[in-house]
Amino acid sequence: MELPLFSILAALLGLILGSFATCAGYRLASGGSVTSPARSFCPACGHTLTFRENIPLLGFLLQAGRCRFCQAKIPLRYPLAECANAGFAIAAASVFGPSWHFLVAVGFGTLFVVLSLIDLETCLLPDVLTLPGAVLAFLASALLPRLHTLGIGWRAALVGALVGGGGLWLIAWLYRRIRGEDGLGLGDAKLMLLAGALLGPVAVPLTLFAGAVLALPVGLVVARRAARQGEGDGLRTALPFGPFLCAGAATYLLAGPQFLRWWLGPALF
Ligand SMILES: [Zn+2]
Repeated sequence: MELPLFSILAALLGLILGSFATCAGYRLASGGSVTSPARSFCPACGHTLTFRENIPLLGFLLQAGRCRFCQAKIPLRYPLAECANAGFAIAAASVFGPSWHFLVAVGFGTLFVVLSLIDLETCLLPDVLTLPGAVLAFLASALLPRLHTLGIGWRAALVGALVGGGGLWLIAWLYRRIRGEDGLGLGDAKLMLLAGALLGPVAVPLTLFAGAVLALPVGLVVARRAARQGEGDGLRTALPFGPFLCAGAATYLLAGPQFLRWWLGPALF
């Protein structure tokens, strides 16, 4: 298949899955069922969305970001999440080409979007997503032939899962021992269990590093805003770390080895 056509198909797939992800994220965050009701609805007035209103991105633009019935604002993070998923799918298309690896990458990209949205809304990463996700990641690593960052083999997947899940569990445990309160959630540890099983042990520190780099400026803005409004005491304001870990893992999935080569220099490769 020619690359431009494949890129367009990838973008459409990313948008459709992204739309599913925002819907699933909203339903799981609000404690509902993912599959019922079958049709999407406006959370403010309950109006069932028509086919046109439900088109990813386009529906949001056509209605200028509001529900057609009750004028409730549609949160901007939903179309942004759809765009992010489409962008990820286009990048995955150029990295992996038409392959199983591409589908696996887009599948986990979509899972990362769902997890990020839920973590942003509830500060939780549900076990019903992270643990089966970790099993699927292990299977993908064991069954796929090696291509770029995927198909690392079951041994690397096992070590990655231990380093990722165990490492973060240890950090969370130490933090609680020293500070007497929870810093990192165990949800973050289970997310890194998944990332380690999918991408291997080398990806774990890089994902943490990328997540921290991404979280720092956002954390400072949130802390400053909270301090101005007199809530919390600056930096200790809770900021869910899951979305940043997801972004870090997605970045490693697409460009981890290139980043390592650039960082460590050609001497090592
Ligand atoms: Zn409405």
